[in-house]
Amino acid sequence: MSNLNGRVIVVTGGARGQGREEAEQLAAQGASVVVADVIEPEHELPDRVAFRRHDVTSPDDWNTLAEALKSEYGAVFGLVNNAGIVGSRGRAGRLEDITLDDWNRLLQVNTTGCFLGIQTLSRLMTGGGSIVNISSIAGAGAHFSAGYGVSKWALRGLSRIASMELGPRGIRVNTILPGYIHTPMQNQTPQHFIDAHLSLIPLGRIGAPKDVAPVVAFLMSDESAWISGVDIPVDGGAIGHVGLRVISDAMTVATNGA
Ligand code: NAD
Repeated sequence: MSNLNGRVIVVTGGARGQGREEAEQLAAQGASVVVADVIEPEHELPDRVAFRRHDVTSPDDWNTLAEALKSEYGAVFGLVNNAGIVGSRGRAGRLEDITLDDWNRLLQVNTTGCFLGIQTLSRLMTGGGSIVNISSIAGAGAHFSAGYGVSKWALRGLSRIASMELGPRGIRVNTILPGYIHTPMQNQTPQHFIDAHLSLIPLGRIGAPKDVAPVVAFLMSDESAWISGVDIPVDGGAIGHVGLRVISDAMTVATNGA
């Protein structure tokens, strides 16, 4: 297990879901974690995890957070840009039907919120640091929901640029691409959407926050000291076959029968 003692790490959207698990695992490994979210945590936070009400789309909130972190800790080591929204589904998520409001909101939270976090908190990473951006497999292909997909593709681009610009200051920037993860974000998800995901996953199950959090902890640790500018899918193998699994499955059926 890595040692994150003394590292101050901000996790956006850490009140629930993947961010919550990430905050708990980082704290368990010794980090001082600040969860920054628009909602209150659903359960009491463990030791070494503090909560701040914070909207990632607000430059004022980022500046206020940075001032508070500077006066309390002096420097920050890590930022996990985890907060995200999915926007409308069904036809309303499609390119032909998505509203400009929906489109703008998705980009504002999922991409601009991360940009603001990187710009504001990297100034406090005076002793080097690590930034992890939570994109999605939606940022690796032509995923359903135009605004969500574009926001997650844009985040990958932002990560690469940040990794190039911040590297000389000893700040690493990497991206995680989770596949379908069972969290409150998916509470209203219809079964056919889940089944379609499952049909893509060679490892045969959907993901859990516990599948993603250890990868975040690794990227916050010195064990990943020479890793920057990469995208790491955590998806049970879903995007590794770039959709070609349907051909393999068809061949299996033809050979063995249904
Ligand atoms: P979730 O909805 O359970 O958690 C998201 C958190 O972000 C919530 O606590 C929410 O309050 C917070 N948030 C939303 N808007 C915010 C804002 N403006 N400011 C601050 N906090 C805000 O979802 P999750 O599944 O835990 O998602 C975490 C990340 O993983 C998101 O970026 C999401 O897009 C991404 N992701 C999720 C899945 C999945 O299947 N669940 C798959 C791929 C990627």
